[in-house]
Amino acid sequence: MVSSREKVALKHETQDNILLYINGEFISATGNKTIINMNPFTNERINEVAEGQVEDINKAVAAAREAFDHGPWKTMKLTKRMEYIYRIADLIDEEVERIAYLEALDTGLPISQTKKMVSRASENFRFYARMVESRLVGDAYQVDDEFINYTINTPVGVAGLITPWNAPFMLETWKVAPALATGNTVVLKPAELSPLSANLLAEIIHRADLPKGVFNVVHGYGETAGDALVKHPDVQLISFTGETKTGSTIIKNSADTLKSCSMELGGKSPIIVFDDADFDRAMDACVWGIYSFNGERCTANSRLFVQESIKDEFVDALKKRVAKIKMGDPLEAATEVGPLIDKGHYQKVKSYLDIAKEEGAEVITADIPEEMAKGNFVAPTLLLNAENHMRIAQEEIFGPVLTVMTFKDEEEAIKLANDINYGLAGYVWTNDIKRGHRVAHKVEAGMLWVNAQNVRDLRTPFGGSKYSGIGREGGHYGFEFYTEQKIIHVSIAEHHIQQFGK
Ligand code: NAD
Repeated sequence: MVSSREKVALKHETQDNILLYINGEFISATGNKTIINMNPFTNERINEVAEGQVEDINKAVAAAREAFDHGPWKTMKLTKRMEYIYRIADLIDEEVERIAYLEALDTGLPISQTKKMVSRASENFRFYARMVESRLVGDAYQVDDEFINYTINTPVGVAGLITPWNAPFMLETWKVAPALATGNTVVLKPAELSPLSANLLAEIIHRADLPKGVFNVVHGYGETAGDALVKHPDVQLISFTGETKTGSTIIKNSADTLKSCSMELGGKSPIIVFDDADFDRAMDACVWGIYSFNGERCTANSRLFVQESIKDEFVDALKKRVAKIKMGDPLEAATEVGPLIDKGHYQKVKSYLDIAKEEGAEVITADIPEEMAKGNFVAPTLLLNAENHMRIAQEEIFGPVLTVMTFKDEEEAIKLANDINYGLAGYVWTNDIKRGHRVAHKVEAGMLWVNAQNVRDLRTPFGGSKYSGIGREGGHYGFEFYTEQKIIHVSIAEHHIQQFGK
């Protein structure tokens, strides 16, 4: 008898060998090198993935360059280009179940959460198609009666897109959609730990029949394939999402070829809960904000600042909620927290529980049940009695671990929230609306939510300040990054011209 879970698995069987996608063809990597792709729930092999080398990046960039310089992509009529973009969106919609399944299998993210994430991916393409249709408008300047000046937006060239493993398909489409819609050609280097959905994106784009070389995927390690993409002289821009340290290396390595870089980096975002907040809603948001996506979420509220007057009540309620979070197989619909991406990351997250003890915090965690022992599980954890100077309060743990601290008043809450290198997101809970705005204005971060969990409209800017990033994605902010603005000055009269040497 085949179980329902096995039936789903059969329906979404994975290929045994994932290939690179270059110039409209699926090909092996130079020297047939491969990376073994592991299942985070079982730590068994899922399949093998072509390990792109410098030569493969060179091939992909050459294909993208040729498609940009001589292909029809950037010169075709806008309606025709957008037909391709809408077709990609429709094909993604047809594959939502499969992508969500493969994403959960590959990353350990619970399938109920990958489904939600993946269903938004097609909207990235539709949104940017609409954005390009409506925003390809320039400014015009009348200069006396002598000139008319106007601006146009042109595609930049070959876009190098480098993505992490924590929300792979969503983040890949978030970059690929604006890059392609604005007429650039693309080389995507997905994270080596989560190649499955990037491969599906290549399949989808292949089926959408884009001209050869417009979209290319090179799997492989960051230090080799990623590095070659960053340093390649024919790549004009790098859009990167990942760790702060990697971002800084990429900025340095891209300097010789003067690329523009968009950087979406790490975070250690505060959630500030005042004593007048809606207790139950603040609790729901706090628990979801740190334990969803296994805590491997850049905007996770990993530092809780709760007002001293409600600390005991809030922490007691937190303990009860956290103890009941359902860990399990990421492919089970009821699972709330799954295994972490790989053994290396698991060890890093676990090490912070030891650091917490050494630093004098109280660690509230749970044992991992026998049936999950093979997976990279860290139970939803609370670090109590922490202080803001501790490593557990300052460093990005990127797992299901919440560092809990307290504050006396508004001034102290702001001071503590800002006393950190990161500045990605922040959450404020209070029923005093003036205070909500005040605190949101003063917390140093790119994105603030007041009395809300992380709900985002695609039109709004996404990104961080301080060590959390440079630039913004989303909305027209992304659009601007992927286009070059050009001003054209046209003389319409006989303006004065110097007559040297006459
Ligand atoms: P990472 O920096 O290790 O890797 C990200 C990507 O960069 C991978 O594809 C990797 O192969 C590549 N890479 C690594 N070294 C490189 C190099 N020297 N040159 C070129 N490419 C290189 O990050 P990760 O561990 O995959 O992802 C987790 C991190 O991403 C966390 O810090 C998280 O906060 C951050 N993140 C940020 C956002 C945001 O929008 N701010 C969103 C998601 C994740």
